[in-house]
Amino acid sequence: MGRRTSVDMDRRTYVKVVGASGVAGLTGTAGCLGSITGSGGGGSKKLTAGTAPGFPPFEMKQGGELVGFDIDLLEAVVSESEYTLSGWEEFEFKGLMPALGSDKIDVVAAAMTINDKRDKKIDFSNPYYSADQSILVRKGGNFSPSKLGDLSGHPIGAQKGTTGEGIIKDELLSAGKLKQSNYNSYGSYVLAVEDLVNGNIDAIVVDKPVAQTFRSKRDVSIAFTHKTGEQYGFGVRDGASDVQKALNSGLKAVRDNGKYTEIRNKWFSDS
Ligand code: GLN
Repeated sequence: MGRRTSVDMDRRTYVKVVGASGVAGLTGTAGCLGSITGSGGGGSKKLTAGTAPGFPPFEMKQGGELVGFDIDLLEAVVSESEYTLSGWEEFEFKGLMPALGSDKIDVVAAAMTINDKRDKKIDFSNPYYSADQSILVRKGGNFSPSKLGDLSGHPIGAQKGTTGEGIIKDELLSAGKLKQSNYNSYGSYVLAVEDLVNGNIDAIVVDKPVAQTFRSKRDVSIAFTHKTGEQYGFGVRDGASDVQKALNSGLKAVRDNGKYTEIRNKWFSDS
């Protein structure tokens, strides 16, 4: 939905050009801005990426730096295309699609599952990773659910706007198997894990690869995995078919040249 406004693009191009040349005299006249972007005809080849850190190993902060599988993968994919990546913006997961719609970013790289509901609002690249949903519990605790229904009567959590939250809503809340007051929604899964470890909630529904990462770092274990067969794609603005095509051919290139495997092996030990 919605097309990039020229104002946004001008500002970024402007900052870049002024920053690069250091010509203070360029400041702020409409004429200069026009001449800088004039030849582009709206076809800037720069992309700003958006993600939601706190979802290891896909995206997280390490020593203040944004790192992870999605970061490396998108950078490799874009470098195979005619576009360049001008930078990364961080949001809560729930804010990513709105940020795309309001032109704050051009690509979402956030382990975002491709599904029909989202596909109505944005477009996706081809899939680049598969996942199911795991149920995380406290390690060594006495709560050992083996199916979704076993979560009834327990305080549980998920991250806002995720497919994990969707499962809780669709399979438990709507089905009358969980009271609304037992569902805790978090801005980030990191906060949910904190609450789980502290005993404020008893379980979390989260993508399996992320559950496995939390398991290796925190006192949590995977009680069971609920098969969903989700596939992650990079999100682009609805109708941004040039960007979508560039990402798809970039994805193919990094799969063909071994870069995808290299990046996967860097972030996932088990394959
Ligand atoms: N794959 C899940 C989704 O798309 C979770 C993504 C995330 O939390 N970054 O909803």
